[in-house]
Amino acid sequence: MFTFHVTAQDGAARTGWLETPHGRVETPVFMPVGTRGAVKALRHQELKDAGASIILGNTYHLFLRPGDEAIERLGGLHRFIGWEQPMLTDSGGFQIFSLGERCVVREEGAEFRSHLDGALHFLTPERAVDAQSRLGSDIAIVLDECLAYPATEATAAMSLRRSARWARRCRERLLEIRAAAAPPVNPGQAQFGIIQGGTFDHLRWESVEATVDIGFEGYAIGGLSVGEPTPEMYRVVGETAARLPAGQPRYLMGAGTPEDIVEAVSRGVDMFDCVMPTRNARNGQLFTSRGRLNIRNARFAFDESPLDPACGCYTCRHHSRAYLRHLFITGEMTACTLNTLHNLTFYLDTMRRIRDAISFRSFETFKQEFLASVSGPLSDA
Ligand SMILES: [Zn+2]
Repeated sequence: MFTFHVTAQDGAARTGWLETPHGRVETPVFMPVGTRGAVKALRHQELKDAGASIILGNTYHLFLRPGDEAIERLGGLHRFIGWEQPMLTDSGGFQIFSLGERCVVREEGAEFRSHLDGALHFLTPERAVDAQSRLGSDIAIVLDECLAYPATEATAAMSLRRSARWARRCRERLLEIRAAAAPPVNPGQAQFGIIQGGTFDHLRWESVEATVDIGFEGYAIGGLSVGEPTPEMYRVVGETAARLPAGQPRYLMGAGTPEDIVEAVSRGVDMFDCVMPTRNARNGQLFTSRGRLNIRNARFAFDESPLDPACGCYTCRHHSRAYLRHLFITGEMTACTLNTLHNLTFYLDTMRRIRDAISFRSFETFKQEFLASVSGPLSDA
């Protein structure tokens, strides 16, 4: 079954662990995004070596191909993809609104056309719960309505109230599944509600109240990292996290840069996911302990130093910046693997350092030093 324990607190930042049907996860945690059952360019073993304890699967993509019913028939997502550690699935809502074509939202659910073949689909809150139940993830997320930024106050209010009604339907469906005679793929699956409300504090508080009233195993903060100014995002995260139940995990969806993660941890967030480390790696954008770099830059043509001398990943232990630049420029597939391995190691190492700093009650010092060193372009000085 699913439980969460806070083990140390430093200001609003806290460490803890999640107990899931597929093992324990230390928090604050970063979840690499395994969109279609794989983290792009990496084998599962490389993910584990980099320190990943939990990965995320996208219900929208798996729902379209190979289909949630096919995955259930293949024993559930863990068995199908050969990953025995914890997994979280999203509801598919975010992708329907961003990738799906001609998305029409009604009270009953969201109608959309597949971005693959134009086929018409109708996703209801109940259907989103069923799909994730068939996948058998350890943490499922409720279906919510995703708003584009900027939204007016009236639109954000209407939307959060609809999301709250959908959240209640999602919870009722999960309780039905739990009470059914035939056990689902993962009987210990937890379900998180989502807090919406745009950038309006009082709407966020209303959403917290409505969602916590339904009662979930954890709470996601949604509708951020959608183009709002960064200070706005930090403020909303702080205002929202402070009002969520202290004894339950808080998950900031889709954020973000290493700086965003450290800032959100300092405001009490426990869980993160983002495509940034993996997507940027495939574009040659790499994170290091001394700032960011683009590996295609001519300054690295004869640079025999490792990508990040402070990093212990396979890429940094075995290869030079000059070689990584050559692989990238010539379009070798290995470039994606080596770059992804490094960026994910950087994120996962950052999470470990965050947890250590909180445990030692030195998070604020860590935060200041971290923000001063990693922000901006690479400084080799
Ligand atoms: Zn590295």
